[in-house]
Amino acid sequence: MKYVDEYRDGRVARAIAATIAAEAIADRSYRFMEFCGGHTHAISRYGLEDLLPRNVRMIHGPGCPVCVLPAGRIDEAVALARLRGVTLCTYADLMRVPASGGMSLTKAKAQGADVRMVYSTLDAVRIAETEPDRNVVFFAIGFETTTPPTALAILSAQKKGLRNFSVFCNHVLTPPAIEAILSAPPEQAPGEVAVDGFLGPAHVSTVIGARPYEPLAATYRKPVVISGFEPLDVMQSILMLVRQMNEGRVEVENQYIRAVSREGNLRAQAIVEDMFELRETFEWRGLGEIARSALRLREAYAAFDAERLFPVARSQARDNPACECGAILRGVKKPVECGLFGTACTPETPMGSCMVSSEGACAAHWTYGRFRESNAAGAVR
Ligand code: SF4
Repeated sequence: MKYVDEYRDGRVARAIAATIAAEAIADRSYRFMEFCGGHTHAISRYGLEDLLPRNVRMIHGPGCPVCVLPAGRIDEAVALARLRGVTLCTYADLMRVPASGGMSLTKAKAQGADVRMVYSTLDAVRIAETEPDRNVVFFAIGFETTTPPTALAILSAQKKGLRNFSVFCNHVLTPPAIEAILSAPPEQAPGEVAVDGFLGPAHVSTVIGARPYEPLAATYRKPVVISGFEPLDVMQSILMLVRQMNEGRVEVENQYIRAVSREGNLRAQAIVEDMFELRETFEWRGLGEIARSALRLREAYAAFDAERLFPVARSQARDNPACECGAILRGVKKPVECGLFGTACTPETPMGSCMVSSEGACAAHWTYGRFRESNAAGAVR
């Protein structure tokens, strides 16, 4: 296939769905977690769940970078932005994520903090270059996909000799999060939903490759299929997972061969390895503290590390107790099971992080699912 439309052909999607229905064993259940928010978005947007038989169910995972950032880290970003002389640069979604006490970066900006929305890490470097009297801090978040651009921004600032550019680093790692979901023993996580297999991330895997999932699949006996983001990618990957289960195989398969290799992007991995090291532990919204699941800058790059440069106290803020983002990110609840969904919480008035980003399960369901519920015809063309 050459054009993106070809990956969105409804006739082909329905043909794959018919094969899934024919091959899924009637008295068996198949529960697959799509780790990545990009997949959650595609499943909602194209109504893919409506095409699946009742015994093949998708469970939303924690792979939305905005969603998994705990309120405490947003509090710390707000505190950074309020420091005299600091300009905090960030992507648009993060500006609306609720911090504690009803605060957000948007509100901090309205109150006078210098918070600026950027489209790339290099925009932040450019601001530092053109405004040498400001201390420009880039609020860096995301999985393995967005870490290399942060590294390149630091290298660019270093090359330009900028002493007023730094990074508030919140980059997290996919494999430890998958392991945290798989290793939670039932007695420690009452009510947790069982997962039979994973749709592996697309963009993350272009960087880290397929190899890091192999020990997880082998240890926990769960198949993984790395999947592209288009609807036919997702449908084909679900079929591959069904076939693995039916045949008793536990493998890491790669559906997204047009972009992902087993080894990944070795150059990007080397740049990241040179600049970052593992944190002992990091808090994830919904998953709690996960050991060795996030990155910080190495000592050699301390001059670019906002956490070392600026006096910001750690925040232990808790989420709004009525918000079910934690349970949704663990795959235990669906957005409609939150009492605030669509009433107090909408994309215009988000009460939790899952309603902010388009990759968040609540935002995706608000945008596409609520219409699907009243029109079961589905959305795939
Ligand atoms: S609907 Fe809003 S409050 Fe409820 S879980 Fe989703 S983001 Fe949180």
